[in-house]
Amino acid sequence: MAGNMWKAAKALDPAEVYNEKRRIIFSQMQKDSVVAKTWLEGYRNTLGPTGYAGLMAEIAFFEQYRKDLNLVVAADIGDATDFVGVVGGAMHRIDVTTNIAFKRLASYEPLQLEGALYKVAVYDKGHFDLVDINFPFCEHCQSGRILPTAVLLEESHYRHGDSQWSNDQLLVNICSACGEVEVADRITTPFLYDFQSLYRDLDEARRQAENLGEAPIDVGAEARAYARRAGRYLSDIFGTRLIAIGGKNYEITNPRDGDGYWTVKFEDHLPLVQEHLLDEYPWDLSIG
Ligand SMILES: [Zn+2]
Repeated sequence: MAGNMWKAAKALDPAEVYNEKRRIIFSQMQKDSVVAKTWLEGYRNTLGPTGYAGLMAEIAFFEQYRKDLNLVVAADIGDATDFVGVVGGAMHRIDVTTNIAFKRLASYEPLQLEGALYKVAVYDKGHFDLVDINFPFCEHCQSGRILPTAVLLEESHYRHGDSQWSNDQLLVNICSACGEVEVADRITTPFLYDFQSLYRDLDEARRQAENLGEAPIDVGAEARAYARRAGRYLSDIFGTRLIAIGGKNYEITNPRDGDGYWTVKFEDHLPLVQEHLLDEYPWDLSIG
């Protein structure tokens, strides 16, 4: 009786079940991948929906990249490594996931500190996005990571005051710990407003809707959606996956005379860096 209970409890540990089935399937993958995949179907109930989706993604990754990246199946011993392969001429540890929102930079740091390189392979509708997470460690404070972010700037004006009908946007590498910044790129975009203008417009729309008795506007949700859209757009333009996006923000410390200081305030960031990136860092105005 006690033995059976122990067995039942053991069988229910999803990580252990996952690793056991993974070992069996990848041993078979080397011999006959078609048979291996029929076994995966057989394990579907045992694995549960999350485990099944995860293992299916790993198999798909192995099949698609085995030759190109010279993949070796890793033992998965708590080092966030499903495969080891060669990406861009360098050996990388690769973590396959169906949802990058569950990943945290901290789980890769112990080995990154020893020089290991990682990629997160994000599975989406049959394709993989190899996300680089080898953010350099900061030379100033030694503890932070240098993260690529975008800072939206307010509308540009000519010297005589007329609007240029465009905004400049910065690609800013920022240290997550000490806030040391470097502007890596600056571009001009039409119709991509900064967050202060966005909040002004949203507040105005919210008041109007209230006065007219229309459905209420969720300013926070609208701003987050805008930040995500802008982040995707600028990631394409800058050619680097942005970790966070924000704008310049004046933080008032003395309400009587309006005294305060400028900050960069992030409106959206990848969950990957949520233990690393602060919401705000002091901003040196001479930078942009
Ligand atoms: Zn630093």
